[in-house]
Amino acid sequence: MLSKTCATVAFRFSSQRTAFVAASSSFGKFGSGGGLCRFASAAAAPMDNNNNATTTVSPESLLEHFQTTTKSSNNSMIGNNVGDAMYALYKADAVCFDVDSTVIAEEGIDVLADYLGKGEQVAALTKQAMEGGMKFQDALQQRLELLQPSQQSILQLLQEQPLQLTPNIDTLMNALQSKQVDIWLVSGGFRIMIEPVASLLNISKHNIVANTILFDEVGNYNGFDKTEPTSADMGKPKALQQIQTQHNYRCMVMVGDGATDAQAKPPAQAFIGFGGVIERQAVKEKADWFVTDFMDMVHIIEQR
Ligand SMILES: [Mg+2]
Repeated sequence: MLSKTCATVAFRFSSQRTAFVAASSSFGKFGSGGGLCRFASAAAAPMDNNNNATTTVSPESLLEHFQTTTKSSNNSMIGNNVGDAMYALYKADAVCFDVDSTVIAEEGIDVLADYLGKGEQVAALTKQAMEGGMKFQDALQQRLELLQPSQQSILQLLQEQPLQLTPNIDTLMNALQSKQVDIWLVSGGFRIMIEPVASLLNISKHNIVANTILFDEVGNYNGFDKTEPTSADMGKPKALQQIQTQHNYRCMVMVGDGATDAQAKPPAQAFIGFGGVIERQAVKEKADWFVTDFMDMVHIIEQR
């Protein structure tokens, strides 16, 4: 696979609009094992042909531009490394999204449990698993054994009640696709439920890493694939590592609402916490940038 490179881009501020001018050198080297990429620092402003000052894009310049042009409130500026996260997003060659309560405005397993009339029982098991520190794979197994979902019941659910997309996620996906940024859906949920969501957003089903429910020859529940990286604890960093190894990405960003999403950095260079569906304090504290509206991310992508 060819490695993807990020070109340094300079932009100048003009009176009516901001023009972006590609320059030739590359950004500094990226971190090899994890953590944030090393960023090019803002150089002394060079001049373009019209003697307008141009500024190399940096975390600081993106942050300043974002604040100026969006007139953002402090609510858009929550995070431990907001400028660095914006910069990682600005030059990312892959952005990985959690699905439940991030790409969709609900939790797939809860929707399935409600549909099968076992919502309360699954919620009790989930709570018990979280409080008891149960391993992810054991919790997944317990809930699926309780649900015993058949292939037919899941397909029927998806037809009757398609999963609801989070506001503005389609705009964000379009923006990434228009800039040739690869998109991945990395979820502890179920592939069979995520594939229609991916299709709605024009994401290849090959760019889904999620759990696979197994069915017997007549479509009855028959366990799940325990070799999927997302079926066990620390599944998200493992999944991103596999994706990075396969595609030789230089700069990946992880987006999600949960603490397990924050674990994906490293190998992700930045973790963007999403609180538009559920706002979790622990995620807010771990996030490089915490957003509640995907349009904030669109704004950065559009600067590329
Ligand atoms: Mg989630």
